[in-house]
Amino acid sequence: PSRSLSDKNVYDWSSEEEEPDGRARPIQVLLVKDDHTFELDEAALSRILLSEEVRDREVVAISVAGAFRKGKSFLMDFMLRYMYNHASENWLGNPEEPLTGFSWRGGSERETTGIQIWSEVFLVDKPDGRKVAVLLMDTQGTFDSQSTLRDSATVFALSTMISSMQVYNISQNVQEDDLQHLQLFTEYGRLAMEETFLKPFQSMIFLVRDWSFPYEFPYGQEGGMKFLEKRLKISENQHEELQNVRKHIHSCFTNISCFLMPHPGLKVATNPLFDGRIKEIDGEFINNLKVLVPWLLSPRNIDVKEINGSKITCRGLLEYFKAYIKIYQG
Ligand code: GDP
Ligand code: MG
Repeated sequence: PSRSLSDKNVYDWSSEEEEPDGRARPIQVLLVKDDHTFELDEAALSRILLSEEVRDREVVAISVAGAFRKGKSFLMDFMLRYMYNHASENWLGNPEEPLTGFSWRGGSERETTGIQIWSEVFLVDKPDGRKVAVLLMDTQGTFDSQSTLRDSATVFALSTMISSMQVYNISQNVQEDDLQHLQLFTEYGRLAMEETFLKPFQSMIFLVRDWSFPYEFPYGQEGGMKFLEKRLKISENQHEELQNVRKHIHSCFTNISCFLMPHPGLKVATNPLFDGRIKEIDGEFINNLKVLVPWLLSPRNIDVKEINGSKITCRGLLEYFKAYIKIYQG
């Protein structure tokens, strides 16, 4: 079904996981309310994670996080397309088909802060023969004022704690304040977790959107790694604060990588009538999307969620989710 500006709210939250016609949809499982309290929709989360086909499967939990209006949901919808097309060669499909799934849109009005998960958990066969459950999470934060920064930190921390891969979606560059935010958010997470000798989190991917210096560092993962190495380098003549941010980030994640994405073109960025069809997206963006999405999601590349070194099932993830949220509810 296509989506237009007038029906953009058809995917808004309710307590059922499917549209009346049985379509899967995003479910707001965590909501930060105006008074800065957190509401977990435990019933909805349970229905998804405890459904019979998935509850005892090891889970791969993929999260995309970062500030508003930077193309997170837009990217998630391509991830959905990849999952629904079973990672096939032509997963991008018909170039004239509008993009649907998580709600993405232009404009700049305020949005909710929280975590949405896709109501359908995908079963994927890893090359080693194991069948794993793949959960996609879209998170929203504001990052603008002091009070909302704390909310965003909690959302970011929670999504990092329960995911096996966190995609940190940032615009144009990796700025010092992006790193400071990451330090704050992961510190929030680490404080809530048991102390172990293992690094607390798994994979962190810096996804830089609208990268505009491909002549310095080319688009993609290799250029991204070289760029990130430079940005995260610790040197003795750096200010101590800069060194600490970098040490902290290195100490939190088992894997850190980076991908540089080109700008998708003016239609995507500015045209209110744009409906997500590939035909209207810059070719360079599509070429890199064809690399990025399989790099993130191919059966070979996805990793099962581990906590303290043990692999977690969907059922286990639900328990952790509930335990972690309690910590923040105080
Ligand atoms: P979110 O709030 O981070 O989930 O952002 P959305 O996915 O809702 O996208 C916000 C707006 O940015 C929409 O108008 C998209 O068409 C547009 N957009 C999506 N991807 C990109 C991108 O890579 N670069 C730019 N400049 N705009 C994008
Ligand atoms: Mg969004």
